[in-house]
Amino acid sequence: MNHPSRHIVIIGQGAAGLAAAVSAAETVRVHKLPIRITLIDKARESDAGGNTRWSPSNMRMMAPDRVEPSFVPDMLAATDHKGDADYFATLAANAPEVGAWMASRGVEFIQPPYYLAKGPPRIQPVGGGAGLVARFAGIARAEGVDIRYACGAEELVVDGGRVVGVVVASGDKRETLGADAVVLASGGFQGNAEMMLRHFGPGADTMRLISPGTRFATGDGIRMALAIGASPCGNWSGCHAVGWDMNAPEFGDLAVGDQFQKHSYPFAIMVNATGRRFVDEGADFRNYTYAKYGAVVLRQPNNFAWQVFDGKIVPMLRDEYRIKRVSKVSANTIEEFAHKLEGVNAEAFLDEIKKYNAAVKKDVKFDPNVKDGRCTMGLAVNKSNWANTIEEPPFEAYQVGCGVSFTFGGVRIDPDSGQVIDSDMNPIPGLYAAGELVGGIFYFNYPGGSGLMSGAVFGKIAGTGAASGRNA
Ligand SMILES: Cc1cc2nc3c(=O)[nH]c(=O)nc-3n(C[C@H](O)[C@H](O)[C@H](O)COP(=O)(O)OP(=O)(O)OC[C@H]3O[C@@H](n4cnc5c(N)ncnc54)[C@H](O)[C@@H]3O)c2cc1C
Repeated sequence: MNHPSRHIVIIGQGAAGLAAAVSAAETVRVHKLPIRITLIDKARESDAGGNTRWSPSNMRMMAPDRVEPSFVPDMLAATDHKGDADYFATLAANAPEVGAWMASRGVEFIQPPYYLAKGPPRIQPVGGGAGLVARFAGIARAEGVDIRYACGAEELVVDGGRVVGVVVASGDKRETLGADAVVLASGGFQGNAEMMLRHFGPGADTMRLISPGTRFATGDGIRMALAIGASPCGNWSGCHAVGWDMNAPEFGDLAVGDQFQKHSYPFAIMVNATGRRFVDEGADFRNYTYAKYGAVVLRQPNNFAWQVFDGKIVPMLRDEYRIKRVSKVSANTIEEFAHKLEGVNAEAFLDEIKKYNAAVKKDVKFDPNVKDGRCTMGLAVNKSNWANTIEEPPFEAYQVGCGVSFTFGGVRIDPDSGQVIDSDMNPIPGLYAAGELVGGIFYFNYPGGSGLMSGAVFGKIAGTGAASGRNA
């Protein structure tokens, strides 16, 4: 085996891998270290960039005026106190500085207009995730990083307990890249149907990927790390999952983008195959429920739900309800409507509507802009806000399944160095990780704007750690 002593291999060209590559290269340049850096991605250049490339890449806390003093308690609350407080403290301490570093390296940011109006403040790279990947990759190349596409990592090489290389495949050609340090940044396992079935159970094969770039996230980095004794961490049966058109293609569609999502459900009711409601659609604003209700839909019989609206709400539906490729039925009478809801027990549905309409607290005014407290009372599953009766034609319903963005389970890292931790809780010499394949950051739900920030912060830490050999 060719075994150069000074070589870092970074696996994956998303935000995490690119932040690692640029920070490693900078460390090498500043300290005049004799280290080569290679970044590999198993996708061709036109497809590489993972979820990062297809996301708008809104980032929280990445500028000094966007710091959230309550970030750690907020993340602990968002994860039901199962998330790793050390990770969150590291993210809070480093995010503004990492944002400033990215800006100083030439990544331009804007304030996304949506967040001027509401929600915690964010910044966004010019050109969204695609802009970020293109810019960051350009900076990495200018720093001398060798980027190889269509080159997939398959296996880590270990010698005396230390990672000394990685076996990669480019088409039919397999070779071993010797390395002092390997940084895993190859995303989650959402693109691996077998792993999804194993961790999410029956029905997981009906899940659809919401971003075309993520079909390459097949859990390779996680698998390779576990194979050499890495400690699994986090919520392995949890993922960022949304209500997604039931008939959307397996890997999304570039022309449609995120318009297969269906996010007006807080003003609707959702019923499953039994004709019954199953979740509090109005528990909170969309931003706080959309990333977890996809998984709730997945758990329903035959893994689908119909979102049901009446004529009062139809004019308020978000734009994504008006696209051509949409699984929609409509009718002018509720009886005809009930029989159009494919796969649903129509009699039970009609009974459900009657009971739901009767339970709506009609003396409270509907207000979509605040949690209006217009609820239902006395139902097995009550609706907390925005409870509108289903009685005015035209009736419209949209069939959704579960669309997955990324998985939450992964490997454990030392947040200070980015090193992967083994099952005896010791760092694995020569192995670092960042991004979606780090477990322990998200459980049950996803607080918006955290994925990219986490990828960039832990990516920079891992790149610096790999180049400086910290704790290795
Ligand atoms: C539609 C959508 C919108 C989103 N919006 C936001 C947002 O606004 N804000 C936010 O913070 N987060 C958002 N997210 C989440 C965010 O995009 C991710 O958390 C983040 O981009 C993950 O970065 P990453 O570098 O870990 O992985 P990725 O960006 O997925 O990159 C992984 C890379 O690894 C490569 N790879 C995989 N296996 C191998 C292998 N064996 N060998 C070599 N290469 C390999 C892949 O090809 C890919 O290029 C969104 C996600 C989606 C899907």
